[in-house]
Amino acid sequence: MPGENASLTPEPGHLYVVATPIGNLADLTERAKAILSQVDAIACEDTRTTGAMLTRLGIRRPLFAYHDHNEIKAAEEIASRLQAGQSIALVSDAGTPGISDPGFRAARECQRLKLPIVPLPGACALTSLLSVSGLPTDAFFFAGFLAPKSAARIRFFQEYRNFKHTIALYESCHRIEKMMTELEGALGTERVVCLGRELTKKFETIVTGPINEVRERLKTASKKGEFVVLIAPEGYEL
Ligand code: SAM
Repeated sequence: MPGENASLTPEPGHLYVVATPIGNLADLTERAKAILSQVDAIACEDTRTTGAMLTRLGIRRPLFAYHDHNEIKAAEEIASRLQAGQSIALVSDAGTPGISDPGFRAARECQRLKLPIVPLPGACALTSLLSVSGLPTDAFFFAGFLAPKSAARIRFFQEYRNFKHTIALYESCHRIEKMMTELEGALGTERVVCLGRELTKKFETIVTGPINEVRERLKTASKKGEFVVLIAPEGYEL
């Protein structure tokens, strides 16, 4: 393709921010595999998780930790390795680094120090669900994970009740039913939502409809796994 960044070989002093699969190993791109197998080192959220993925791919590279609890120091380490001429890849446990995952500080450090940083796009739970949801995608607001406390979540729903665009949230299996009950209480039974569970995995479930219908489906389905929730603007009909 014209203008494509064709290089499948990492360059010295470059940071590659690499999206990894959210459940289906075949979703790792060819470019990601090529870069991961040749960089000097890979910064990752959990060395066991990334180590297991790399083993399945037959890739062996040195790993070092970059996670929520050491992100500032690890971002400095990445910068000094880059300045010493190493090529580094940054991955999170799953999906796109920086999207409700560590990654932001390394990107900021590279931009601040004018070090080359290269995105390797790929899986992301948010965009995967948006693309099939049937909800408006021309503009949307990604709110990430809401606060764990019920009162804060209800306040959020009330505050964004009349928001003009689709709202996207991440939620864990432990809170999904409670969150859907709060959502229905705050926005009413007719509001259209889309729920995506275990995307790209064996038990992938995608349901779009008014909240009350989606909640009914959720009652009968397994609540295990990971969820993305999309909320349509008020008045939106399928
Ligand atoms: N960086 C990731 C991305 O690009 O999507 C998100 C990481 S965040 C720590 C994990 C959350 O993403 C999960 O709690 C869930 O809300 C969502 N998620 C990740 N994988 C998913 C999947 N396969 N199906 C549904 N939701 C998923």
